[in-house]
Amino acid sequence: MSTNTSLRSLLSDSALPQNEAKILLAFVIDKHYQLPRSALLSRDEMELSPEALEQWRNLESKRLSGEPIAYLVGKRGFHEIDLYVAPGVLIPRPETEILVEVALREIQKLNRPATILDLGTGSGAIALAIAHSAPQALVTATDQSPEALAIAKMNAKQLGLVDRVQFSEGDWYGALEDEYLSTQFDVIISNPPYIAAGDRHLTEGDLRFEPASALTDGGSGLSCLEAIISQAEHHLKPGGLITVEHGFDQSDATVHLMKRANLQDIQVHQDLAGHSRAVSGRKLAP
Ligand code: GLN
Repeated sequence: MSTNTSLRSLLSDSALPQNEAKILLAFVIDKHYQLPRSALLSRDEMELSPEALEQWRNLESKRLSGEPIAYLVGKRGFHEIDLYVAPGVLIPRPETEILVEVALREIQKLNRPATILDLGTGSGAIALAIAHSAPQALVTATDQSPEALAIAKMNAKQLGLVDRVQFSEGDWYGALEDEYLSTQFDVIISNPPYIAAGDRHLTEGDLRFEPASALTDGGSGLSCLEAIISQAEHHLKPGGLITVEHGFDQSDATVHLMKRANLQDIQVHQDLAGHSRAVSGRKLAP
């Protein structure tokens, strides 16, 4: 009977896919016993205490009903940092790392501390990954959600980046109205909500649990991209670069928005899976 609560039995009896069961059980043994994930194998006869067992059952049943792993363990790795995440923010996706890479390449080309604007920062993922990897960069990150900003600020603190990342609440560029904030940047970057209202993806997988306002504009999917791109010229320094993430079928539309906004040197960037995932454009230098 007692063997039923050994790590080995819990894993083999779980209805979850093994990789997910291991992530959640590793989280439990870290919390309760400060044991590393490898203990799932090296100490597989170990029995969980009643409290640890209850936490495991609770996490297992939440995951079986679809709750995202990242929310259950409160953490997600992104680029070279770990972020705290909770239901008030979008879970950072690996394909979004492409925005970070494009920004870092641009920062490297500038021979001075670059100023960066991340619009709709959510957990702070893009802003903080850039600040972490570019120690000279000065980053401004905005969000219209106070809940998201609270999480992003917590992450900035955790990562020791509060000195170089400032946060501002508001709707896209509207967040910059504070007279102490700069209004022109070397690089503007954004992963806005771009899923069209009614898209079936919104009713599938992790997306069901994420804030709708971070996923969809409630319309065609292009309205936030348009708001961000159409005003970019006013908020970029001459020669400055804007890069935005978009949906798998929005590449042409995003390029079109950039052309209409008078941006030059327009480029489409592919993610690791080879999908067009981001578009960048540049404000003409005089
Ligand atoms: N990349 C997310 C997804 O398709 C959507 C995020 C967004 O709308 N910016 O799951």
